Amino acid sequence: MIKKIAVLTSGGDAPGMNAAIRAVTRAALQMGLEVYGIHDGYLGMYEDNIEKLHPRSVSEKMGHGGTFLGTARLKQFTDIEVRKVALANLKKYGIDALVAIGGDGTYRGALALSEMGLPVVCIPCTIDNDIGGTEFTIGFDTALNTVIDAVDKLRDTSNSHRRCSIIEVMGRNCGDIAVWSSIATGAEVCICKETGYNLNEVLKTIRKAAKVKRHAIIILAENMVPIDELAKQVSENTPFDARATVLGHVQRGGAPSARDRVLASEMGVKAVHALLNGSTHHCMCVRKGEVVPIPIEDALAVDDSIQTIEKYEVFKLVQ
Ligand code: ATP
Repeated sequence: MIKKIAVLTSGGDAPGMNAAIRAVTRAALQMGLEVYGIHDGYLGMYEDNIEKLHPRSVSEKMGHGGTFLGTARLKQFTDIEVRKVALANLKKYGIDALVAIGGDGTYRGALALSEMGLPVVCIPCTIDNDIGGTEFTIGFDTALNTVIDAVDKLRDTSNSHRRCSIIEVMGRNCGDIAVWSSIATGAEVCICKETGYNLNEVLKTIRKAAKVKRHAIIILAENMVPIDELAKQVSENTPFDARATVLGHVQRGGAPSARDRVLASEMGVKAVHALLNGSTHHCMCVRKGEVVPIPIEDALAVDDSIQTIEKYEVFKLVQ
């Protein structure tokens, strides 16, 4: 029977991680469990950087971005000897299950621990919305709102100067931030992994826009094409002067949106329920709006690009 659980955040940080830690902690304590917070993800598990959490340990954390437990990347966690040390540390405290909050790498680490006998449940928390099996990850909604806010501001100045704004957003493995923000800001062009990149098509679309409006917006996902090169092409081959803006890590920060806070709270509560109900290698997913646990390996096997492509079809029809 599970009596003591640990919670950690791992991989890239995302707004809503604190809300998820809070929910796991409060729900587990209310269900009569002891709760331990592991600092800096799997690194803290390996280095025994673990503290007992109380209801007040998670007070006033919900509205803050980032993660108060800290996060880290530890490549050596793929090594079974490193994981053995980490598991031995958990044993010292009598911890018998883990909630791991993070992205797909965090899932792989958790799966490896479950194969060594530790029951784990993962919570999807990454701004990129790039985890298979779930319609939404915690942090995506907040990051999307940050992007929309920035693009709206850039549009004001582009319109005044008859410019084309090119905005680079995160999402090298999944174009959801690019596609959703393109829909929400009425961008002319969206370029991401799922759409591919065709310079001639981009220039044609921007030239067409220049005939009827004073500005144009291109949303570009990172890792597709150097943004300055694209800006040069637009400036030289369309009536617009182009300006490049890389939003970068600002997309990862900020107070989580209402939606991310509620999703994190629901997933946190349901993760504890899942552990108590016997889940040993599961992750929380939004499926048709419902939060449910599925096996981690099933989530990792899902091709996540289908839902991005479906949304891109919407973008094309509302341009
Ligand atoms: P993000 O999507 O924001 O980058 P992530 O969880 O995918 O988040 P990663 O850096 O890929 O971030 O993974 C987090 C950590 O999980 C790694 O630093 C490593 O400690 C652990 N990890 C990743 N893959 C494995 C694996 N195959 N086996 C064991 N541990 C792993």
